[in-house]
Amino acid sequence: MTCAGCGGVGASPCRGCIHKLIPAKPPCPAGVDSCAAAFLFTGVGRTLISSLKYQNQRQSLAWLSSAVAQLVLAQNPARLDVVTWVPTTARRRRSRGYDQAELLARRVARRLRVDSLGLLLPQPSRSSASQTGLNAAERYERVAFRAHRKAVGLSVLVIDDVITTGASIEAAAAALRSVGASQVHAGAAAFTPAPADR
Ligand SMILES: [Zn+2]
Repeated sequence: MTCAGCGGVGASPCRGCIHKLIPAKPPCPAGVDSCAAAFLFTGVGRTLISSLKYQNQRQSLAWLSSAVAQLVLAQNPARLDVVTWVPTTARRRRSRGYDQAELLARRVARRLRVDSLGLLLPQPSRSSASQTGLNAAERYERVAFRAHRKAVGLSVLVIDDVITTGASIEAAAAALRSVGASQVHAGAAAFTPAPADR
């Protein structure tokens, strides 16, 4: 195995790369009971996520899911009934063949010994365009989801790979609450720092 952070032979991420990750404290988006991210989306943290997202390098998933699960538990959620994820657009999923947030969510759920279920669908008319290249306000306007009614009464953990503006998590929480979810918690591998911190 090679480290997705530096390309060295051995664990991924290797100890040297783990040491370089910067802890993150994302603000809690509206409608979300707790929010955790493992590290800042910069430097090695950015390389780790990009290798998963764009090159389908899965060797870091075990470590990432363990880190996210531990942070979620550290937030002391009263209970967790199900783990779901922020879905990527159908078009992107087709072109990549996988959804990196789902890959992470399935593993986080296993660590937490909770079921994982796809509870969110993109709203077709508003989220069909790729978000890359849009500014925060444009992204906010375009993000919307529909939630499955199975979420009624459940405490749901929503997983994403990267939290940037928080708009996706906020929209996911709104959709889940609209069908009666009792609690919404959020967890991500990385959080994009404010421009001044980059
Ligand atoms: Zn490394």
